[in-house]
Amino acid sequence: MSEALPLDETFSQRLSAVKAKMEKETHPEIIAVTKRQPQAAIDGAIAAGHRLFGENRVQEAQKHWELHRKSVENLKLHLIGPLQTNKAQDAVELFDVIETLDRLKLAKALAAAEAKTGVKRDYFIQVNTGEEPQKAGVDPNDLAELFKAATEEQQLSVTGLMCIPPVDEPAGPHFALLAKLAKRLGLRHLSMGMSGDYQTAAKFGATYVRLGTALFGGRS
Ligand SMILES: *Cc1c(COP(=O)(O)O)cnc(C)c1O
Repeated sequence: MSEALPLDETFSQRLSAVKAKMEKETHPEIIAVTKRQPQAAIDGAIAAGHRLFGENRVQEAQKHWELHRKSVENLKLHLIGPLQTNKAQDAVELFDVIETLDRLKLAKALAAAEAKTGVKRDYFIQVNTGEEPQKAGVDPNDLAELFKAATEEQQLSVTGLMCIPPVDEPAGPHFALLAKLAKRLGLRHLSMGMSGDYQTAAKFGATYVRLGTALFGGRS
């Protein structure tokens, strides 16, 4: 999928290379995905001045970010992996944006966590654009109903949509669908595109791309 990168390249060099490849497109913000990366890689990216990061598990994220959360200014963390309702409060406490809202039960748990902690966060709804049975995300046909319940009943601040296209299909049509759905709901943000397809995502109007291997090399 994603190209292997020479180990001697620094985070900054890789970041510049990625940006150059999206030069002609919209300029999405780059979420550096630090799941299963060593702490040294995370510290290096912080030292290089990067401030926007993604994690896909709450517990791992707590370990990775506990110290930086207190000391690094302007740090922004996005949760990009599935969230269980019993972790909703931990997630609300740690993350600025939770990208994986995909069911009413979770919206209720997040609203309760916001009420309890007094913190308001932003949310993206994850859409299962490929309608894959095993995959997280709301079915495109059920999106409008979930959006209405999350924003009107639960009073969550939903500002965007997120998707992960099926691995065995071209990503373009999935990105196009997500963009269409967001436009219909008047949502500004589109989190789409990973190391293998971020240029395509940028062409379709991504406002965030989520990059792990393109910035850090392989994961453990
Ligand atoms: C791991 C992960 C990424 C980053 O994947 P790469 O292919 O390494 O860029 C992006 N989005 C989600 C949801 C992920 O879990």
